[in-house]
Amino acid sequence: MKLTFFGAAHAVTGSCHCLEVNGKKILIDCGLEQGKDEHDDNTLDFAPNYIDYVLITHAHIDHSGRLPLLVKEGFNGRILTTGLTAQLMSVMLRDSAHIQEGDANWHNQKGKRAGLPPVEPLYTLMDAEEAIHMLETVEYGWLFDLCEGVKVRFTDAGHLLGSSILEIWATEGEVTKKIVFSGDLGNEAQPIIRDPSFVDTADYVVMESTYGDRNHEPPESYAGALAELIDEVFSKGGNIVIPSFAVGRTQELLYYLREIKRDGLVQSLPSFKVYVDSPLATEATKIYSGNLRGYLDDDAIHVIQGGENLFTFPGLTLTQSTEESRALNDDKTPKIIISASGMCDAGRIRHHLKHNLWRPECAVVFVGYQGEGTLGRRLLEGARSVKLFGEDISVRAKVVNFKGLSSHADRDHLLEWVGHFSPRPQQVFVVHGDSEVTELFAHDLNQLGIPAHAPLYEEVYDLTTNCMLAKGVVLEVKKTVGSAAAPSAAYLRLQGVSHDLADLISRSRGRSNKDLAKLAEQLKQVMEKWA
Ligand SMILES: [Zn+2]
Ligand SMILES: [Zn+2]
Repeated sequence: MKLTFFGAAHAVTGSCHCLEVNGKKILIDCGLEQGKDEHDDNTLDFAPNYIDYVLITHAHIDHSGRLPLLVKEGFNGRILTTGLTAQLMSVMLRDSAHIQEGDANWHNQKGKRAGLPPVEPLYTLMDAEEAIHMLETVEYGWLFDLCEGVKVRFTDAGHLLGSSILEIWATEGEVTKKIVFSGDLGNEAQPIIRDPSFVDTADYVVMESTYGDRNHEPPESYAGALAELIDEVFSKGGNIVIPSFAVGRTQELLYYLREIKRDGLVQSLPSFKVYVDSPLATEATKIYSGNLRGYLDDDAIHVIQGGENLFTFPGLTLTQSTEESRALNDDKTPKIIISASGMCDAGRIRHHLKHNLWRPECAVVFVGYQGEGTLGRRLLEGARSVKLFGEDISVRAKVVNFKGLSSHADRDHLLEWVGHFSPRPQQVFVVHGDSEVTELFAHDLNQLGIPAHAPLYEEVYDLTTNCMLAKGVVLEVKKTVGSAAAPSAAYLRLQGVSHDLADLISRSRGRSNKDLAKLAEQLKQVMEKWA
């Protein structure tokens, strides 16, 4: 009985763990590595027919995004997940394929001019559809036999609609071990979905640690704080642009905006309009508006029983066509535009930033984590100007980091969750966190008397004897993405100064020729020094 870590080991993305029981190999998640975690172009580290079963904890791409690749390369075993995860995966994997195809096209256009051979997308829409077609669904709480000696139960992880903790009972000969995979654990009191479930017993726990080093500081009233911000911007006549993750976060925002409207919290413009401008977000919102029996928390059930729809309110438009999207920029009435991608690196959000960032009366409101090297992170770090569609756009809008909505449990809640196992697990494997965070969290667990460590990539662990068989390796980070491509804070400051200089020069028109000549001479000297 063995466990091998093929992803999210000393990293946040690329979740992929392989449990081997009686010779059968069960993959828990098959996620895409993203941003700075990406290595080896996301290729798989095992032959696809090496795997017999795949269990998916939830629909996020860092947990499900390499499934189409697995299928493309010849996997023909079974894939199981919850009904709602399957529904969300069907829109997310299609979207991911679309991005993969788009990226390959872009590279090939550039490559052709440079005389390079064409590259293939990681997978295509067809591969994604085949993977979606193979999904088999189960529901929370079912205890079922996966194969000889293996029983599985999906339990609510409270992270995203349909998200699960996996409880697996594995028997080899006389020995039975229970292994619990936390998946991503949700934040307490997230709207719409329930809080993460506690699990009572486990021999081994594989747990996430995204926020293993910090606690959240949510505002006292999320709706109240958001309404105040909206009121302030609308009273100046500006728009609010919210870059948002299409699945999950967007629906939470709609949930709060419905409350804000219902309670009349925006006095400057009570009948304000909200546009969700992302085809993926629109698709996901339709799933969230469908039959969610067995997936909702009590508050949400109460709203529905009162005859209301969770995500519909007067003034809400889910745009479809690009024409509709473009028209939003011609209409000057203050409005809220929610668009993807959440970190501003792709999608329609970039158009909305282009049309609103330069307007001092507008606000760009970030509601989610902004990864290193993304446009979102640069804006949060105070970039004075950004390039969008080849144009320099100056940043005059208010840029707000609106904290409080997180779909991950924070440090205290992670500790509470793992502390709930009784007796203590034989070993906790800390995964799904930045490298230092996984180490730190494992160290903290040891201090509390819970045996734990943060496995390296391709570590192999023997679950029968509770000992490590192979130590794993430290991965090199792919150099073409992430931090290498991102300008440093000092560079951004320099860019800012160059704009000030251009301003100074244009304001100098009309000064005496003597002064202008002097300024030109001094600038020339500085430039010569640095050329
Ligand atoms: Zn997730
Ligand atoms: Zn995750």
